[in-house]
Amino acid sequence: TVVMGIETSCDETGVGFVKDGVLLGDALASSIDEHVRFGGVVPEIAARAHVQAMVPTMRAALEDAGLAWHEVGAVAVTAGPGLATALHVGVAAAKATALALGVPLYGVHHLAGHAAADTLVHGPLPDRSIVLIVSGGHTSLLAVDDLVRTPIVHLSDTLDDAAGEAFDKVARLLGLPYPGGPSIDRIAREGDPTAVRFTRPLMTPRDPALGFSFSGLKSAVARYVAGPQDPGVSVADVAASFQECVADTVVTKAIRACRQEGVDTLVIVGGVAANSRVRSLAEERCAEAGIELRVPPMRLCTDNGAMIAAIGDLLVRDGARPSVPELGARSSVPLELAQLSAS
Ligand code: ATP
Ligand code: MG
Ligand code: FE
Repeated sequence: TVVMGIETSCDETGVGFVKDGVLLGDALASSIDEHVRFGGVVPEIAARAHVQAMVPTMRAALEDAGLAWHEVGAVAVTAGPGLATALHVGVAAAKATALALGVPLYGVHHLAGHAAADTLVHGPLPDRSIVLIVSGGHTSLLAVDDLVRTPIVHLSDTLDDAAGEAFDKVARLLGLPYPGGPSIDRIAREGDPTAVRFTRPLMTPRDPALGFSFSGLKSAVARYVAGPQDPGVSVADVAASFQECVADTVVTKAIRACRQEGVDTLVIVGGVAANSRVRSLAEERCAEAGIELRVPPMRLCTDNGAMIAAIGDLLVRDGARPSVPELGARSSVPLELAQLSAS
């Protein structure tokens, strides 16, 4: 079965096609340029852009995959979490497509999609793995046995800001262009990561061993920027120091989770998994710890349609029942099962 995946939870309109774990093709449109002057994604603008981009992106993805409409056998769509206005566009498009083609519809959890992205390049997940999701809205450590069969166990989440949110806020403090993650990643290459020693959050023995918190780090950067400036420290140095702190924190806790659960595979997904320092530090530390590291290529880390097709394909092959036709969008929903609103 060829599964079409549709993603519209934020500012990316993504469409992808997957069959039996193989990515056949995909396409992506982004309204990011329309949000830059507001310094963040404006939900109404994102929704209108999804409406405008949906059909052209579907056509581009079909062409990329070399497919015709009649070859599509199922439709999967991000039904949550995300921006409600944006999600509704994808869900409406998915329902219309499934109805027109006479094929089943699957509402899926956005974060399960992020995790499934890795299977497109590295194959099925092993029996047990630790999945670190580091994205714009989430920072979570998950114990995963099977992405579609067994409930996903949350080992920890962030107590406040998500890692990607911290990148975006700190970039703004440093006067770097939105979106912040890629800006910081770029400028940090010319900076000294040891220039400013930001305290690693939640690292004392009294703290929750796997917990995350990034709002204090953001405040620390704000205080540093507002305080007397050391002329020897550049914006690139501050960016590199902040990035080092985040990378050190998330990689340390992820490896701790592997040890605690006795698991030897770590999967890192989500937009911040595109960060070059997160990737290189995870490689170093996992090699030392004897942990197999799986990180998808950068373009599959940030939001895309291929990852939604990937989780849809896993559901279809597992024999999951389609979602009800009244499937709705849910802006906030915890990740327990990959599928939302099954019949
Ligand atoms: P969620 O998946 O939690 O709903 P989202 O879909 O908005 O949130 P993603 O698309 O997964 O998030 O990731 C976007 C986030 O990733 C943004 O915060 C962005 O700044 C960050 N990001 C993207 N590239 C990089 C990078 N190279 N370095 C650090 N952060 C990055
Ligand atoms: Mg985005
Ligand atoms: Fe995302």
